[in-house]
Amino acid sequence: MYVCGITPYDATHLGHANTYIAFDLLNRYLRATGSRVIYVQNITDIDDPLLERANRDGVDWRELANSQIDLFRADMVALHVLPPAHYIGAVEAIPLVTKAIESLNQINATYLVDEDTYLDLHKDLGFGEISHLSPDEMPAIFAQRGGDPERVGKQDALDPLLWLKQRFGEPGWESALGKGRPGWHIECCAIALNFLDVDNTEHTSIDIQGGGSDLIFPHHEMSATQAKLITGKDFARHYVHSGMVGVEGEKMSKSKGNLVFVSKLIASGVDPMVIRLALLMHHYREDHMWSNEELSTASEFLDDLRTALSRTEVAPTDIVITEIIAALANNLDTPRAITVLSGWVTQSLSGSEDCVSGGSAGELSRAIDALLGLAL
Ligand code: ZN
Repeated sequence: MYVCGITPYDATHLGHANTYIAFDLLNRYLRATGSRVIYVQNITDIDDPLLERANRDGVDWRELANSQIDLFRADMVALHVLPPAHYIGAVEAIPLVTKAIESLNQINATYLVDEDTYLDLHKDLGFGEISHLSPDEMPAIFAQRGGDPERVGKQDALDPLLWLKQRFGEPGWESALGKGRPGWHIECCAIALNFLDVDNTEHTSIDIQGGGSDLIFPHHEMSATQAKLITGKDFARHYVHSGMVGVEGEKMSKSKGNLVFVSKLIASGVDPMVIRLALLMHHYREDHMWSNEELSTASEFLDDLRTALSRTEVAPTDIVITEIIAALANNLDTPRAITVLSGWVTQSLSGSEDCVSGGSAGELSRAIDALLGLAL
């Protein structure tokens, strides 16, 4: 499973938390049901937005990246997200990226604009099959999400940048392509192929490509095209995308300045498990609005759940665990899993006769921890 990681600035807002909790659920479910999971995540520790933010704030880009990576990791630990097996930075992956671009060179799928290297998308006849967008819809979204459709000299407006020649005042790394830095889409493609394409007999390179739904196009489409041109086989068997989290009726974004940060919520005294639960109350694919009322609801429910789990006589738990697993098996239906838990809490706290016949609070607590990642 390859999940696209953060660019280390503005970490970790609730949109990030929602994404990585969604894939943590998937990881936990796959493991609990007997799969062997290799989970790889990148970190885009060199890219335009990072350099722009470092310039704006007058800090060294490396310092900004390192501080934000530390913050992100601490937030993930607090949110009880299992770490990936491989957590790879773009800078450390530069040799993999240049090797991938070299493979694209060999099939004449690259060209230069000035001294920057671009991919000729038309070498992949399947381009567009991931996002299912029409060619008319693509350029605007491409421009909105870091693409450069207007650049003069490109063969197709959508062709993505593979390697950017070093600009004045910016960092660059020596390579056969000249001193420069990698494009974003080739970074993920190179890391995923290197760490996950382990079985040559399979028809796809990796099993799961994941990320937020804002990565469907161009990012996942471009990565898939590059990987397919390099390996000759489809990139991922499944594409899984988590929904966006908004706030006060608006999309949460850096440009609107309305980002809600996990670390700030925790610093204000919010239990990280309440944040996790509040996000799990929504299906991972659903776009939703974050609100303080939901935080209160989650907090009250968590208190009741902890109280119920501390009792010696509780309602039967075997059926609850079975139903939680069934809910997760149905495309990670966490709202259903929480409804099931809520029913058990009500029953257990009511002290009804069922409680005497007995369940094991300890067993349920361990199941909630393992499956939902809620440490109680
Ligand atoms: Zn990616």
